[in-house]
Amino acid sequence: MKEQSAELSKKYSLQKYILAIVGITVALIYLLFMGLFGSNIIKYLISLITTNQYLLIALYILVFTIILDVITIPLSFYGGFVLEHIFKLSNQKFLSWVKDELKKFLISLVLLVLLVEIMYIFLRNFPNSWWIFVTIVWIFFSIIMAKLAPVLIFPLFYKSVPIDNKEVKEGLDSLAEGTGINIQGVYKINLSKDTKKANAALAGLGSTRRVLMGDTLLDSYSLAEIKSVFAHELGHHVYHHIWKMLAVGTITGFLGFALCHCVLSKVIATLGYQNVHDIAAFPIICLTLGVLGFILLPIQNAFSRRLERTCDRYAIEKTNDPEAFISTMDKLAEQNLADRNPNRLVELFFYSHPPISKRIEMAKEHWGQVLQYNR
Ligand SMILES: [Zn+2]
Repeated sequence: MKEQSAELSKKYSLQKYILAIVGITVALIYLLFMGLFGSNIIKYLISLITTNQYLLIALYILVFTIILDVITIPLSFYGGFVLEHIFKLSNQKFLSWVKDELKKFLISLVLLVLLVEIMYIFLRNFPNSWWIFVTIVWIFFSIIMAKLAPVLIFPLFYKSVPIDNKEVKEGLDSLAEGTGINIQGVYKINLSKDTKKANAALAGLGSTRRVLMGDTLLDSYSLAEIKSVFAHELGHHVYHHIWKMLAVGTITGFLGFALCHCVLSKVIATLGYQNVHDIAAFPIICLTLGVLGFILLPIQNAFSRRLERTCDRYAIEKTNDPEAFISTMDKLAEQNLADRNPNRLVELFFYSHPPISKRIEMAKEHWGQVLQYNR
């Protein structure tokens, strides 16, 4: 049974990796094509409709995103809907998938237009130092998003209710004691409306800080297992991981926009753009950020895996229950068809969490040498 599911996980994961690589390649080709040929044409056509620079930017971003979305729809449909159904991981209806995709498209479009409009205000007014201002805007934007996403964005996709099971509530309450997380801030979200996969997460900042736990997890895991997942999420809270990830985002944002400035000033004339604040050069900015993001991906993932390991260790010590941790990992791998033992290169590029085999190995090392860690 286990071997069969391991084989299934391998097949499922392989398709996921291939889809991700194809997705990156398609986006890269699109940006290259736009940067070299298409962008100027689109800008010219829009400039026939309006000369207002704000409207021109908004329309350009609209067209730019629609074309990219149309090109990548087959990939997102296959990866997000067909594949999940083939592997019996999803119970989402087609219309509900379409509705979610439309919502995602609209939300990201509004945010992107807002950010790009602000970025071009600085590009127009400070052609040499715009990237410093834009990095500062980026930092504020990331903090505001981290703060507001749990109350503004998540509810558009999932319903969350405070945990009602008395036994679970009391169990989590005792774990949370002294950590600053209030049990009122632990929510059950209805993941099961779309997926059979289980998941949990820490989200929000300050007053919106909360632990979100899927009903797919709460309804089918033992109390000890639920506690071990919850303790892992508590670890993220106790060690300020959301702030640490925001700090990493700040550094990469700084590097990214500085690099964009260098690239833009070098290629503007060669590629036939008017100046640095020419919206037609927008694909060059995306391309630069995309390539840098890809290069930094292994470092970012390694950092994230390190944080996850810290939380695994915290969970085991806090609950003093490595057995429950291991059975949770086993269940999660089975339920989510996770590849327990990915290739090292795959781990570098795609794994923000350590592979299940390593998480279990770590827990086994703790077996017998777990210290009482209740305070
Ligand atoms: Zn985690």
